[in-house]
Amino acid sequence: MEVRIAENAGFCFGVKRAMKMAWDELENKEDDDIYSLGPLIHNKQAVDKYKEKGLVEIDSLDKIPNDSKLIIRSHGVGKNVYTDSESKNMDIIDTTCPFVKKIHDIVKEFSSKGYRIIVIGNANHPEIIGINGWCDNEAIVINSEEEIDNNLFDPCDKYCVVSQTTANLEFFDKIVNMLKEKINNLTVKNTICFATKERQLSAIDLANEVDCMVVIGGKHSSNTQKLVNICKGIVPTFSIETKEELDKDILDGFKIAGVTAGASTPDWIIDEVIKYLKEI
Ligand code: SF4
Repeated sequence: MEVRIAENAGFCFGVKRAMKMAWDELENKEDDDIYSLGPLIHNKQAVDKYKEKGLVEIDSLDKIPNDSKLIIRSHGVGKNVYTDSESKNMDIIDTTCPFVKKIHDIVKEFSSKGYRIIVIGNANHPEIIGINGWCDNEAIVINSEEEIDNNLFDPCDKYCVVSQTTANLEFFDKIVNMLKEKINNLTVKNTICFATKERQLSAIDLANEVDCMVVIGGKHSSNTQKLVNICKGIVPTFSIETKEELDKDILDGFKIAGVTAGASTPDWIIDEVIKYLKEI
């Protein structure tokens, strides 16, 4: 099988940076445990590798002793996590992606100026939960056109809209245009990360020149699943986490496969898939 790889695929700048910071800490670790609040990234295989190295995943600060070392992952967290860890005298290794940090700053600034915050994205995603934590968890989170109708916007209020970094640009524009019809005083901050855009555009380019696409990445990785949906609209697309999920029989009819991967997919997993496909 001929295999073509998307120009931009796999670890983005923010994830690469976060994973390196965390790995460096683990390499220099002495006896005390190092904790991460939630999985470091949405990739089980990579997370397992870090756990083997000694990273302990927790879901609440209450579960760890005072003075512990805590890694904040690239998705970022709300203000309360910083306050709580300070009161527990924790040593913080903050791997929040600078692009996410920028959204925190915007939200903090505009909410302190009396703006109501609107976030376009998935309310359950850790990045959105973190962003919401910079405006007292009072943001209006919108993830569909219907949700605009379900929210009442006060014509006398001023609003600031930001987006989840992994949002689709067309969807963002559509929602913003709908919001403009309902809100007079709307400040728009397009905070979509350009690593996401690059991966989406490369995936579209590649999908248009191959017979099928293989998208590698976590089933819970929002940016991976967006790549899957984009590719599905163009060619038959297979969403996998590792090469073990590829079915040789299904791939039999295709001559050229395109490969792309979400921003939290490590290179070694991509290489394994490429090697496997080439052997078919
Ligand atoms: S996708 Fe963008 S915002 Fe998210 S971690 Fe990567 S570089 Fe940062």
